[in-house]
Amino acid sequence: MKIAFLTLGCKVNSYETEKMKKAFEEAGHMIVAFDEKADAYIVNTCTVTNIADRKSRKMLHRAKRMNPEAVVTAAGCYVDSSEKKGERDESVDLFISNKDKEKLVEMVCDELKKRGLEDRLMPEHGECKMSQAALDEEHTRAYIKVQNGCNQYCTYCIIPFVRGELHSRTVEDVVSETQQLADRGFQEVVITGIHVSSYGVDKGKAGSFLELEGEPLLELLEAISEVEGIERIRLSSLEPRIITEKFVKRLSAIKKVCPHFHLSLQSGCDTVLKRMNRHYTTKDYTDGLEILRKYYDNPAVTTDIIVGFPQETEEEFVETCEFAKQVEFAQIHVFKYSRRQGTIADKMEGQITESIKSERSDRLLAIERELEILYQKKAVKDTEEVLIEEISEIDGKKYLTGYNERYIRVAIPAEKEEDALSRCNTIATVRILGHLNDSVVIGEFC
Ligand code: SF4
Repeated sequence: MKIAFLTLGCKVNSYETEKMKKAFEEAGHMIVAFDEKADAYIVNTCTVTNIADRKSRKMLHRAKRMNPEAVVTAAGCYVDSSEKKGERDESVDLFISNKDKEKLVEMVCDELKKRGLEDRLMPEHGECKMSQAALDEEHTRAYIKVQNGCNQYCTYCIIPFVRGELHSRTVEDVVSETQQLADRGFQEVVITGIHVSSYGVDKGKAGSFLELEGEPLLELLEAISEVEGIERIRLSSLEPRIITEKFVKRLSAIKKVCPHFHLSLQSGCDTVLKRMNRHYTTKDYTDGLEILRKYYDNPAVTTDIIVGFPQETEEEFVETCEFAKQVEFAQIHVFKYSRRQGTIADKMEGQITESIKSERSDRLLAIERELEILYQKKAVKDTEEVLIEEISEIDGKKYLTGYNERYIRVAIPAEKEEDALSRCNTIATVRILGHLNDSVVIGEFC
């Protein structure tokens, strides 16, 4: 059968989609791009905001329109949350919750059989189990989900209710998967999870990640770094409070860990952080940064900030902007607060209008652009090690593009396409020549 996937939402979902694709490939089926005609479509949904719910429904309807005979499956968080609300959608044939994602192949095949379409279950012929378009969607960076669940209960977030209790995979299990990825040629892995800092607190010694000082996570990273073939380990997101002298000292000894830290901030104003039920202050945040900058040369510190949280005043927003400038983030992902039914923040008084949210988002994005350029100027060296990922077209010209350890995008003019393709998925030393545009630097192979 031909099967197509679409992923919405977070990196954990991207990771789980990869797992599902692999299960179908191993069963002999062919993965095609989402805009191709398929026998089955899987939308790995998201429910983080009311808008995410709407988008999940829209994509499911689109799949049904593409092939009304196909088995359209909604998988993941939207299913779990809509199940609780008793909502169902008529264009969806199968609903698969997070806990049942592993049974997906079986459930989709059963559904085809029920419709008398057994012939579709024949394995697709040929060596390659992916269409060219689907292969183009693949990347050189692999995500590994090391834990699930969260017990932080931020007031705007539905995840603890949808993804459930903390659950960490064993070190052996994660290492074995990393080895398989290395065998498939991946050189960079991104450690991901719903709350990565809590990795391992549900196993071994009792205590929160603060009491354990991130030790289980460090042990895991040390074990991953032993895997031959893996050259880079990137951490997808850390909670600021895990950054202590003891933690960073040991972390910095793991040389494969990239000097790129995504520390969620959400607001640079203590009163807003309190309303969000984030358990740190801006002082905790800057203390952590100081430690990171002591152990790493120009680390890339990236973050997420929500603007227009309920009751956010102009003064509170300005405090966030000033804090962002003070920290000199390498990159900020700016989100306009979006209401999510079932959360405390959704019931708070003082919801901010969409026009104010947009205006604040624009102002913070302007700061973000300046900070990103500033960071690039400061952090880019004369030569950089770049993991070449793909051929991209920028302003009408072809380039080989990839990222350095600090997640700065580097472009090298691609002369002959065949020569250029052989460079993909290699780590190359690149002499930096200048800026191609605000977010990409240009270089040449040494
Ligand atoms: S830390 Fe907060 S925002 Fe992140 S998943 Fe947990 S509750 Fe949601």
